[in-house]
Formats: sequence, C-alpha cells, structure tokens
Amino acid sequence: MSPGGSDEAETRRARLILGLRSGGVSDPAVLSAVEKTPRDLFVPELFQERSWEDSALPIACGQTISQPLIVGLMTQALSVDSRSRVLEIGTGSGYQTAVLARIARLVYSLERYRTLLQEAEQRIKTLGILNVITRFSDGFDGWPEQAPFDRILVTAAAPETPRALLAQLKPNGILVAPVGRGPVQTLKRYVGDGSGEFRVEDMGDVRFVPLLPGVAREL
Ligand code: SAH
Repeated sequence: MSPGGSDEAETRRARLILGLRSGGVSDPAVLSAVEKTPRDLFVPELFQERSWEDSALPIACGQTISQPLIVGLMTQALSVDSRSRVLEIGTGSGYQTAVLARIARLVYSLERYRTLLQEAEQRIKTLGILNVITRFSDGFDGWPEQAPFDRILVTAAAPETPRALLAQLKPNGILVAPVGRGPVQTLKRYVGDGSGEFRVEDMGDVRFVPLLPGVAREL
C-alpha cells in the first residue's frame, strides 16, 4: 500500500479536512488542495505517525512544517485562482508550496536553507507538480526580477510590515504574513486598493519561526 493510501490514512485525512472546515476554511479549492496533498511526504520519518494531525511539526534545519489549519486559512486569505502568480517566502518542507501550486497558475518560492530547498524540490517533483519555481535566496529581498506578483505569502514571521515585499505586489494584490518579533505574532492580510495603498486586516494570533536575514551558510 502506498503511503497515505490505507483506510486508516483515509480516515485521518478526512478528519483533518473536517477540522479545517470547523476552523473556518470553507473555500472548496483550498479544501481540495489540502486533501490532495499527502502531508506524510513532507514530514520527517520520526514524525510520520503525526503527519495527518493538525499541528506544526519539526523539519530539518530547526524549522517547522506549518499546521494544516493555518496553511488552509492563509491560502484562503490569499484568494488565489488559476490566473495568480504567487510568491512564497520560506519553502521549508514544500508543503504550503504544493498546496498553493494546486490552485495558482505559478508559484515562486524562496528558501534560505539549501538542504530544505533541495528536499522540497524533490517532493514537488515526486507529486508531478510542474508550476513551481524555486530559488535559494534571502526572502527579505523578494524576487525583483519576477515582480510584480498577484499574491505574496510569507511563511516565517516578519519583524515588521514587509515593505520591500509589498513593493513587489500588483496594485490590487494581496499579501499575507505573520508580523511580530515575539514567539506569538499577528497574521496580517494586506489588500491593495489599486493606488499603492493597502488596507490591513488582522487575522489573529499565530506562531511562526522568524524570517532570518541572509542565506544560511551551514547547510
Ligand atoms: N511553508 C513551509 C513553512 C516552513 S517554516 C512549510 O509548509 O513547510 C519557514 C521557512 O522560512 C523556513 O524553512 C525558513 O528557513 C524560511 N526562511 C526564514 N527566513 C527566510 C528568508 N529570509 N528567506 C527565505 N526563507 C526564509
């Protein structure tokens, strides 16, 4: 039996989707994208048993794979459709990238750990996902050569309003990011008004690893 293919795995998957629904994810495209993305592929061997739990889990390089409910809520808040070009900061395991790629036209994803990026690329390839472009670079700078983007998703905590990234967004674009310096941050949604200004919505408290400056030298 393939991973995630047993009856028990099906039950866990169904339970996770129910949890996302009761947590506020109602967009059918988002629910379907999460359902179709085998989280066990993105979780380290040690935590396989917990792949379908609704919790963040440790991955290599001291980072984390995000909690599925948060992935669902952030993806939904981004209002992505099949025309969207999306920039993601923090590829990590590639889980959020894969979920986005099932809905968006093209996903550009940046990561500061080379090892994480290579493993994520491998998983995305295994799933047959072709609309993802990755780069090993510091996400604080965004991806100027590919800007402007329809949507930007930041999956590590920005210490303050990510102005450099907002500058790479289309005038009617949306950026979603955890913002704050402490262990608990506020999930913020910036919605462009078409004239270079942004309306900011607070979506509640979240816990993300911080955005770190520069690329990692060690791994
Ligand atoms: N979306 C990921 C979440 C990974 S955690 C997932 O679903 O697995 C956040 C990731 O952001 C980490 O992998 C971390 O290395 C990366 N990160 C932190 N600061 C960064 C930066 N300045 N540029 C690019 N990636 C960064």
